[in-house]
Amino acid sequence: VSPELQQMHEAHNLLRKFYHHLLVNTKDGQQALEYLLNRGFTMESIEKFQIGYSLNSWDFVCKFLQKRKFPLEIMERAGLVIRREKDNSFFDRFRNRIMFPIFDRKGNPIAFSGRALGDDDPKYLNSPETAIFNKSKILYNFQMARPHIKKLQKAVLFEGFADVISADRAGVENGLATMGTSLTEEHVALIRKNTDSVTVCYDSDQAGIEAANRALEMLTQAGCQVRVAWMPDNLDPDDYIKQYSEEKFRNEVIESSLTYMGFKMRYLRRGKRLNDEGDRLLYIEEVLKEISNLSKAVERDHYLRQLAAEFSLSLEALKQQQKQVYFSKE
Ligand code: ATP
Ligand code: MN
Ligand code: MN
Ligand code: MN
Repeated sequence: VSPELQQMHEAHNLLRKFYHHLLVNTKDGQQALEYLLNRGFTMESIEKFQIGYSLNSWDFVCKFLQKRKFPLEIMERAGLVIRREKDNSFFDRFRNRIMFPIFDRKGNPIAFSGRALGDDDPKYLNSPETAIFNKSKILYNFQMARPHIKKLQKAVLFEGFADVISADRAGVENGLATMGTSLTEEHVALIRKNTDSVTVCYDSDQAGIEAANRALEMLTQAGCQVRVAWMPDNLDPDDYIKQYSEEKFRNEVIESSLTYMGFKMRYLRRGKRLNDEGDRLLYIEEVLKEISNLSKAVERDHYLRQLAAEFSLSLEALKQQQKQVYFSKE
């Protein structure tokens, strides 16, 4: 490893410890700690995930790093400080934020995500891409979740850090999250190397459901058995656990997740009024398309029968229609 990369790693490790110390032991971090505890975070998860707090200061980190002989030019390339155009001086990237360290596969901190305490914009501020941090390859919590994923032969994919941490507290320890970007082929390959079974548990708002549909497609393409969890009232997993309970989350969200077709049918129903003839016919056509794409004949037969029964159609008519859908695609 080059000396520059080594310094980047060392700086992240020192700051991880210091941010954490500020949060749990100091008066400066008290408000941030109260915010977290109010949200339902426990001291145990604050320790486990090494959560911290960055001071409300423009140069605390600059001074902290300089005192320890880290060149600020290198710290800029590490994403920890930012250079001012006008006089080439430096200032701290993360100020007055809850700090979530991001770890690599070996457990070394390589980046941070900082959450605003209130409604400040942006809500989450992430480290930029650096020589040691590649967002499209990193999955949050991978290093701690990996043994659980291997043991259970199942991974759970979330949208946000808060969801991973709350789920962990609820006993779901095989959770991962992307870094505020969409799922990449590299993420999929990393998951696939460890298990072929994944539950997608994204926020049940419009954006989350669309993203879950994309993740479902990508993971299925890669040969994974995918299920999708769906929560009521646009909730996200963290909200759900707080509003209902850890037990309900395990049993009624994770364990009751939908299969590929179960999700697709629910997804395709959104915004449609099935007692309206036009919507109903469109829905049937869209579901038929999905059924045609299933690789197992037994599954195709099963869902065709289900669709026929639900809309009082003959199996013959559906099969006929399916052929038309199929050939019009060619
Ligand atoms: P919280 O519960 O703290 O409000 P969340 O995880 O529910 O956060 P969402 O708005 O659902 O936040 O966003 C999901 C994820 O997207 C976040 O965990 C974060 O990784 C990323 N994200 C959200 N807002 C931003 C932003 N402004 N900049 C970068 N990433 C963001
Ligand atoms: Mn969201
Ligand atoms: Mn969310
Ligand atoms: Mn949330």
